Amino acid sequence: MKIQVSNSNAPVWHEATVSADLPAKLKPLEVIAKNLWWVWNSDAKNLFRDINPDMWRATGENPVMLLQRLSSERLEEMLKDSEMMGRIESVYKSFNDYMATPMRSDIPSVSYFSMEYGLCNCLKIYSGGLGVLAGDYIKEASDSRVDMTAVGFLYRYGYFTQTLSVDGQQIANYEPQNFNQLPIEQVTDEEGKPVILEVPYPGRIVYSHIWRVNVGRMKLYLMDTDFDLNSEYDRSITHQLYGGDWENRIKQEYLLGIGGMLMLKKLGINSDLYHCNEGHAALLNLQRLVDYVQEKGLNFNTALEIVRSTSLYTVHTPVPAGHDYFDEGLFGKYMGEFPARLGISWADLMNMGRENPDTNERFSMSVFALNTCQEANGVSWLHGEVSKKMFAGIWKGYSWEESHVGYVTNGVHMPTWAASEWKSFYAERLGEQVFANQSDPKAWEGIFNVSDEDIWNLRMRMKNKFINFVKRDFKAKWLANQGDPSAVMSIVDKINPDALIIGFARRFATYKRAHLLFTDLDRLAKIVNNERFPVQFVFSGKAHPADGAGQGLIKRILEISRMPQFLGKIIFLEDYNMIVAKRLVTGVDIWLNTPTRPLEASGTSGEKAEMNGVLNFSVLDGWWYEGYRFDE
Ligand SMILES: *Cc1c(COP(=O)(O)O)cnc(C)c1O
Repeated sequence: MKIQVSNSNAPVWHEATVSADLPAKLKPLEVIAKNLWWVWNSDAKNLFRDINPDMWRATGENPVMLLQRLSSERLEEMLKDSEMMGRIESVYKSFNDYMATPMRSDIPSVSYFSMEYGLCNCLKIYSGGLGVLAGDYIKEASDSRVDMTAVGFLYRYGYFTQTLSVDGQQIANYEPQNFNQLPIEQVTDEEGKPVILEVPYPGRIVYSHIWRVNVGRMKLYLMDTDFDLNSEYDRSITHQLYGGDWENRIKQEYLLGIGGMLMLKKLGINSDLYHCNEGHAALLNLQRLVDYVQEKGLNFNTALEIVRSTSLYTVHTPVPAGHDYFDEGLFGKYMGEFPARLGISWADLMNMGRENPDTNERFSMSVFALNTCQEANGVSWLHGEVSKKMFAGIWKGYSWEESHVGYVTNGVHMPTWAASEWKSFYAERLGEQVFANQSDPKAWEGIFNVSDEDIWNLRMRMKNKFINFVKRDFKAKWLANQGDPSAVMSIVDKINPDALIIGFARRFATYKRAHLLFTDLDRLAKIVNNERFPVQFVFSGKAHPADGAGQGLIKRILEISRMPQFLGKIIFLEDYNMIVAKRLVTGVDIWLNTPTRPLEASGTSGEKAEMNGVLNFSVLDGWWYEGYRFDE
C-alpha cells in the first residue's frame, strides 16, 4: 500500500543550512558573499537582491544568510536560468580582476585601529559616523591599493536596534549575532581549529577568537572574547559597543590596543605605520613600547622616539568631556605591571596621560595618544582649529596657533554611498575616469553639459524609490509594534511625491539639535500645510541608551508628528542604520543639518547627499565650512 504523504510533512528547506551543499556552479556566489566588495559593487549587490528580493530584505541585506536559506527549488531554478548564470559569471570575473591588481609597494603599510566599523548593515559593529568613516576608509584603501590591515571587535550584541513604544519611548534591543551567518571567516590553524589569542590581563589570561572580514583587498581582523575559555566576566568584553561601565571600557580599550598588537604579531603582520582612530585604541602604543624595550633591548626614550615617528592619531571629538579619562585607581588595576616592563615609574606612565604632569589628573587616552603619536589630526579644517585650542595646554610654552595638530577632512566612499543609478549616470556622462579621479575638479567638468531635465528626472526616479521604501518600511515596523493599522495607513497615504521632502537623520546627540525645527510650531504648521508648496519632513535616528536628553528629543518629535496639523507631514523612521541612511540620502530633496557650531567635527551624511544630487542645507560647521561656496 502506498502511504499518502501530506505536504505539511515536506521538509522546510529554508530553515536548513544548505551552504555546504551549494552546487559547484553556484560556488562563486559563496566566494563573493564572503568579501564585502559586493557592498560597493552594484552588479554584485543587485545580483544577490534579485536571487530573492524578499529574503534579501528580510535578512537585512546579508548574502551569507540569503545563500543559507535558499530552497533547493530556487537553486535548481537558478542553474537553469542562463541570464542569472551569466550575471554570476560576469560578477565573479570582475571580482577576480579586482583582487588580482597588486597592492602599491611604493608607500608605507598601515595598521588601523578602531572601536567600530560601519561596512554594511548586516555586520552590526558600528554606531554612527566614526564607524562609517572607518568602514569607508578600509574600502577606499582597497580601491587605492594601499597595504592596510584593520583591527577591531566582533561584538556579540553590537549596537542596539531601535523600536519605539506607543508613547514615544525608545526601546533598545540587543540581539545576539550568529557569527556563522555573517560575511566573515574565523581564522583557523593548519588543522582547521580556531586560532586562540592569549592576552595577559592582571592575574589572568583573556582569550580571544579572531575573525577576518575581507573588504576587497583589505583584511579587517576582529577580536571576540565571548566563548567558554573565558569567565563570564571577561566574555562580556566584546558584548556591546559603547556599553557597560568604566571598568568594562578599560577592559575593552586594553583588548583593542594591547590585544590588537598581540594579535597582529600572532598573525605575522608588521606594518610601517599605526593609525589610532580616536583615543580608544591608544594603548596600542604602550604595547609597541614594551616590544621595543623587551624584544629589541632599546631604552625607553629611544623606543618612544621610534613609536612616535610611526604613529598617527585622529581625534573626532571637539569637547573634552567626550574623551575617555580613567581614574588612577582603575587605570592602575589594569596597567600596574607596565612601568616595570618599560623601565619607568608609575608616575611616568600616568604623566603620559596628563595635560598637567605630577598633578592628580585622571589618565586621558587622548593626551596619551598625543604624547605617543608624532602626527595628530582633526576631521575638518574647522575641527582642526578647535582641536589645536582644545589640546593647547599639553605643549607648555607654545601658543595654540603654533600647534602641529592638523586636519584631514572626512570623506565618504563614493561607490558605497552613490546610488547605483547615479553611478551609471556618472559613468555614462563623465566616463569611468571620474571614479579614479574624484578629487580632481576637471574630472567633473562634464556635468555642466548635462541638462537640468536629465538630472531632475533621475532625482524623481530616486525620490519615488525612496517613497516606496518609506511606505514599506514604515508600515512593516509600525504595524509590528503599534498595532493601529488604520492610523499607520493614513500616515503612509499622505506621503506625497509632489511635496518638497526634507530629510534629517543622524544620531540623536543633543548638539545635533534635531529639535531646532520645532521652535515655532505654528509657523511650521503653516509651512507643511501650504497647499501650493507642500513640505514634508522625514526623521530618523537613535539616541545612546544612556542619553536621556537625546531620547527625550525623539519622544518630543514623535508627539509632534501625531498632532493633527502634522499628521503625515512629519514622519519618523524607526531604527536608523546604513540601509535607511542610504535610502534617505539618495531619495529626499533636501538634507537638513543643524548642529551647534563648532560641535560637529565633520559630519559626513551631507556629502553622501551631494553625490546623489540632493541639496545640503546646513549650518556652516564641520566639512560644510569647506564644502560651501559663497560665490555664484
Ligand atoms: C553617514 C552615517 C552617519 C554619519 O553621518 P553624520 O552626518 O556625521 O551624522 C551616521 N550613521 C549612519 C548610519 C551613516 O550612514
